[in-house]
Amino acid sequence: CGVFGVIGVADAANFVALGLHALQHRGQEAGGIVSYHPDHGFNSARRFGYVRDNFTRADVMETLPGAIAVGHVRYSTAGSKGATAIRDVQPFFGEFAVGGCAIAHNGNLTNAAALRRQLIERGAIFQSSSDSECIIHLMARSMQKTLAERIKDALRAVEGAFSVIAMTRTKLIGVRDALGVRPLVLGRIGDGWALSSETCALDIIGAEFVREIEPGEMVVIEGGEVRSSRPFAPAASRFCIFEQVYFSRPDSIIGGRSVYETRRQIGVELAREAPVEADLVCPVPDSGTPAAIGYAHESGIPFGMGIIRNQYMGRTFIEPTEQIRNMGVRLKLNVNRALIRGKRVVLVDDSVVRGTTSRKIKDMILDAGAAEVHFRIASPPTAWPCFYGVDTPERSKLLAATMSEDEMRDWIGVDSLKFISLDGLYRAAGEAAGRDPKAPRFCDACFSGQYPVAPSDKIAEGFQM
Ligand code: SF4
Ligand code: MG
Repeated sequence: CGVFGVIGVADAANFVALGLHALQHRGQEAGGIVSYHPDHGFNSARRFGYVRDNFTRADVMETLPGAIAVGHVRYSTAGSKGATAIRDVQPFFGEFAVGGCAIAHNGNLTNAAALRRQLIERGAIFQSSSDSECIIHLMARSMQKTLAERIKDALRAVEGAFSVIAMTRTKLIGVRDALGVRPLVLGRIGDGWALSSETCALDIIGAEFVREIEPGEMVVIEGGEVRSSRPFAPAASRFCIFEQVYFSRPDSIIGGRSVYETRRQIGVELAREAPVEADLVCPVPDSGTPAAIGYAHESGIPFGMGIIRNQYMGRTFIEPTEQIRNMGVRLKLNVNRALIRGKRVVLVDDSVVRGTTSRKIKDMILDAGAAEVHFRIASPPTAWPCFYGVDTPERSKLLAATMSEDEMRDWIGVDSLKFISLDGLYRAAGEAAGRDPKAPRFCDACFSGQYPVAPSDKIAEGFQM
């Protein structure tokens, strides 16, 4: 998901709509905005579909007045499967003894099922099926006098990944979990401030990137001032390495480095680790493009757009049902036959999850008359589900959980298939020495099976780490 908030600018909701539009790649099912105006109180709009189809309409935007607003774009993750109900669309809002508060959460709470049971036993009335709603009920039970302190209480009780933006009548609040699994950044816009999942959304509103919110940090912005505190026990950070590979936009800056540059470098590492004799390097667009540029550059094999993407389709992976995903590949991608014919083609994609995409693309490329097809993948085999806010399927549906690399090659039906190593991925992400197995700098659980936070709900359901 994506989260965005601003404070201290007129018509804040318009800025949030723009920010969410720039974060649309993080969630395409639905979006919501909450704003506050002293004369009109808190208002919210939650809609299915794209930001541009809902939050550009005057009849929607004029219901969201005020100089402070937060928003959220959603895609359902492991916590809440199936079709999204509108009541699952964030931000969530609560009216407490100490005032109203809206919460937008990116990430996934790994003890939400247990918390929900306890909270319901003690009388909480849940409105949604979302893990994030636990935060509201935990806040309601806190005895603290300020909402910021209640948020701290609530977030000390949850486990898992969270980047949260909250707003009260006067404050914009940003918090990251102690490991900093999901991103969150701070920006300056005129006399106001913005919080965003990624820097690309600061660019769209002309805000200046100030810094990242640090893992385990809470910032409270009020009256033009930013106050920082550290509510959680200190821990070594474990940012999601899959944000670098796929999830974030390439024009965002993470850890002082452009995501595009990291992805290009993944391609360079891949070309060193898994060279092949070929005539053409093609990305599977858009997610494989920067790595393909790096692969072509390092290998000296010409780069070409052998697959053309229809710009009016969203991300296929993020379509929640299998059927739509299956159609999606063809609706979204088509082969540039004239370029492909007779050539030995290296296809570069970001990841293989179920393998559906790779298999269909291979069919299309061979249909177009390619002489050979070699897949190069910009991440290691995805063999484990994510419980921290990225929608990977259960283990049995992950190709790499049930097959060796050679078996995957044969199942997809290509001449060769190679994945970047975890060490190569770390090098590309700026860790010159590769992955330190005793203290990895990133979360890489979907590749390594080493979960930095034990997924306690899943373990209770029988999940074996
Ligand atoms: Fe990211 Fe994978 Fe960790 Fe999930 S399991 S947070 S996708 S690295
Ligand atoms: Mg892709």
